[in-house]
Amino acid sequence: MLVVKKFGGTSVADKERIFNVARRCIEDYKKGNEVVVVLSAMGKQTDVLLDMARDINPKASKRELDMLMTTGEQVSVALMAMAMDALGVPAVSFNAFQVQMHTTAVYGNSRLKKIDTERIRTELENKKIVIITGFQGINKYDDYTTLGRGGSDTTAVALAAALHADACEIYTDVDGVYTADPRLVKDARKLSEITYDEMLDLATLGAGVLHNRSVELAKKYGVQLVVRSSLNNSEGTVVKEEVKMEKMLVSGVAVDRNVARISVIGLLDQPGVAFKLFNHLARHNINVDVILQSVGRDGTKDISFTTTADDCDEAVEIVKRHGEGSLKCQKIEVEKEVAKLSVVGAGMMSNPGVAAKMFEALYDVGINIKMISTSEIRVTVIIDDKHVEQAINSVHQKFSLGEN
Ligand code: ASP
Ligand code: MG
Repeated sequence: MLVVKKFGGTSVADKERIFNVARRCIEDYKKGNEVVVVLSAMGKQTDVLLDMARDINPKASKRELDMLMTTGEQVSVALMAMAMDALGVPAVSFNAFQVQMHTTAVYGNSRLKKIDTERIRTELENKKIVIITGFQGINKYDDYTTLGRGGSDTTAVALAAALHADACEIYTDVDGVYTADPRLVKDARKLSEITYDEMLDLATLGAGVLHNRSVELAKKYGVQLVVRSSLNNSEGTVVKEEVKMEKMLVSGVAVDRNVARISVIGLLDQPGVAFKLFNHLARHNINVDVILQSVGRDGTKDISFTTTADDCDEAVEIVKRHGEGSLKCQKIEVEKEVAKLSVVGAGMMSNPGVAAKMFEALYDVGINIKMISTSEIRVTVIIDDKHVEQAINSVHQKFSLGEN
């Protein structure tokens, strides 16, 4: 059996944890499996590197940031290979360049395009554990790129797909996927299974357990994932196409606090305005999320949208630049203290009333809704960030998510 095992930063944060991971991998290896390990940078190392960069030059280019950040994973894989060697098991570490993991050209938020598996296969045949840097790739200029924060999950899934692995295990510091963030909701419960689509919404919506693109890839290539803790032996959550049990009305409630709302007021109410506005943003690689357009009145309309808090300033700058020119808007308003709260569930498709129930949960605790958006399996609201804890608890309780 070929197993891909990915460990996050907290799982390799220090010497003791590195040896803990090494032992877990060796256990698998000794059962006769081929083991490929994907690692994140140790602890908060990526943040440390980013702070160093900001200190030197707050406007550092994305190319140099990637050059810097990719060192984090290189440290952890080399140390892991040394730990395994110390435990008497042959291991070899590779970075993205050595493997040849090709990505798109863009820095900071690159996508994996093609992985060369030859070198990995050769070393597996040589009976070595192969340890690979997560989060990084190389582009057509032979430069290092990164896949976006949390991107090591995506590296693991892509490798599992490329190697036709029999299992892909994502080890983290929580026991699996929960009905809500256990740090915010006391009676949050671990799910034993969840569908790709639900997980995709939960990942995108800030559940924070898996990188959203890793779930996209897993769905596309049918890679079944297990999310589990590196610190204990509990079972974890299986992420797959269909769940056996009856589809739950709502599987979980997620919060994303890294959100900002931008309102562009008094735009001309005519064809092409939304296109131009969002085209400018897209060309600067700014992801726009919830979009709301008002009813046109007196020849003008308002459009508000959300971005990540990190992209907010750049987005405002772009809107200002074009807003005053071709878009002719009257005013731009920015709110940074907002959050996105979503309920997700495959069972929603066939059950009306989920949105109403969620709105009722917010009404129960007197929380105002600023924006709403829905999909087949999701209802999302934008609310004031200061209400997040109260809101998520009220919604979690309304859908009885804490009960088995
Ligand atoms: N080390 C990178 C990060 O902190 C990638 C990862 O951990 O998945 O975002
Ligand atoms: Mg992660």
